[in-house]
Amino acid sequence: MDDLETLADAIRNADTAAVLTGAGISAPSGIPTFRGDDGVWDRFDEGQFTYGRFQRDPAGFWADRLELQEVMFGDGYEPNVAHEALAALGSEGYLDAILTQNTDGLHGRALSSAESNRGDGSDDSESSTESTESTTLLELHGNSQRAVCTMCGRRIDGDDAFSRVEDGELPPTCDCGGTFKPDVVLFGEQLPGATIQRARSLARDSDVFLAIGSSLVVEPAASLPRAASSTGATLGIINLESTPSDDAATVVCREDVTTALPALRERVLERKQ
Ligand code: NAD
Repeated sequence: MDDLETLADAIRNADTAAVLTGAGISAPSGIPTFRGDDGVWDRFDEGQFTYGRFQRDPAGFWADRLELQEVMFGDGYEPNVAHEALAALGSEGYLDAILTQNTDGLHGRALSSAESNRGDGSDDSESSTESTESTTLLELHGNSQRAVCTMCGRRIDGDDAFSRVEDGELPPTCDCGGTFKPDVVLFGEQLPGATIQRARSLARDSDVFLAIGSSLVVEPAASLPRAASSTGATLGIINLESTPSDDAATVVCREDVTTALPALRERVLERKQ
């Protein structure tokens, strides 16, 4: 049995299957990763995007954030075949949860398309936890296509916030007088406790857990694969480079996500027949 067949077999026999994805799954959509060749941190100073900077200097933070947003998401981008393969596995009943470190919203878009292809489309949600009929989506670090008021919690579309910044509103301000912040977990900011707990339970309760396109160095997401394997899950890691959790994995697949995930889905479906 080859590596993908081992994972396909485990997925087909699992009661609960979950995946964790990182920037690598969106790299083929044209969104740069943070680290590695051409990583965003080669061009920007990571220290300018911290929660502390936002609190000290919200105007300067937003001006720099606009530049970062343009580099990361500027030309528009679409889900790729890897997002689509996971969404299809979800709507076909093989994948219960997608936990993502990404803030690009691409899993939500792929899941909505997969659901509407089945004839029961669902609306975009403003929460970091969404569920389609078959698949839970947990956006661990939030969604950079939205902004949230730090005072009243109102959320607005990210494009609206960025066009206000472009027009010189620095920082963009809510009707209540509060300051908008990108609706993401910034460096130095805590993830909501409920989100971490939910992610840990999904990992511990899974029979199969795949870590896909993540360097697995950013906590607490980085610990989720080991949490899954310590409770007996079959752990698969699909990533171009080695990760600190490779030693805990049942299968390490050093392949591009755009070949590995469609092939994995095909194997799962083949074995059903
Ligand atoms: P990372 O940049 O640290 O690592 C990405 C990993 O993906 C690398 O190990 C790389 O080898 C691998 N990779 C790249 N292209 C691949 C491909 N085509 N197939 C398989 N593997 C591939 O990113 P991370 O681990 O997700 O964590 C860093 C943080 O970066 C997260 O907090 C996340 O919020 C943020 N981030 C998000 C986005 C996004 O939303 N798309 C983009 C950049 C960074």
